[in-house]
Amino acid sequence: MLKHNFEAVEEKIQAACKRAGRKREEITLIAVSKTKPVEMLQEAYNLGNRIFGENKVQEIVDKYDALPNDISWHMIGHLQRNKVKYIIDKVTLIHSVDSLRLAETIEKEAAKKGITADILIEVNAAREDTKFGVLPEKAEELVSDISSLPHIRIKGLMTIAPFVDNPEENRIYFQRLRNLAVDIGENKSDNVTMGVLSMGMTNDYEIAIEEGATMIRVGTGLFGARDYR
Ligand SMILES: *Cc1c(COP(=O)(O)O)cnc(C)c1O
Repeated sequence: MLKHNFEAVEEKIQAACKRAGRKREEITLIAVSKTKPVEMLQEAYNLGNRIFGENKVQEIVDKYDALPNDISWHMIGHLQRNKVKYIIDKVTLIHSVDSLRLAETIEKEAAKKGITADILIEVNAAREDTKFGVLPEKAEELVSDISSLPHIRIKGLMTIAPFVDNPEENRIYFQRLRNLAVDIGENKSDNVTMGVLSMGMTNDYEIAIEEGATMIRVGTGLFGARDYR
C-alpha cells in the first residue's frame, strides 16, 4: 500500500510541476507520519523516504530514537516553549514559529547546544480563529524582531490552509503567502532568507505547487487516514 501511495503522490507532484513549468527538484516532499507506528515509517524509509514531518514533541523524540539517524525530522505542529529543549538538536526545520517569545526560547536552547536553528514563520493566511500563526500584516515585524537572534536562521514561511472540499478555494491563500515572502524578502536582514514556502497538504498540494510551494506536507495521501488529529 505505501509503495503505491508514494508513487501516486510522486506522479501528481510531477504533473503539477509540469503544469506550472517548475522543476521537480524545487519541491521537497515531507511525509507527515504523525500518529503512525514506527513500523510504517520504517517501511517508508525502506522505500527511500528520508524526510518525515511530526506535530508532537514526544512523538519526534520516540521515533527519532527508534529509526535510522539519516532521517531529516521536521516539526510542523504547534510548539510549546517548555518542550523546545527536547527537539532543538533533533529537527532539521521548525515550521511553526509564530511568536517572538517562542523564538527567544529557541534562541536560548540553540545557544546552549551550540547550534543554529532553522525555522519558518507560520502565517495564518486565511485569518482563521482556530489556527495558530501570525496574521499576514504582522509577519514582517515578527521576522524583523527574530532576525536579531544570532542562533536562528529564518528560511521562509509556512501556512496551513483551510480544510475545504474544493482545493481551488485555497489558491488565494497560497498566493498570499508567496507574495508575503517576496515582500519580506525585499528588505530582509542577515539571518533571513525567504526561499522556503511550506504549503499544501494531501487535499491541496497540487494547487500549492502551482502557486510556488517548495515544501509540501503530505500525510493521509501517503500513510492513509488517521484515527485522530
Ligand atoms: C497533519 C498535518 C499535515 C498533513 O495533513 P494531511 O491532510 O494528512 O496531508 C500537514 N501539515 C500539518 C501542519 C499537519 O498538522
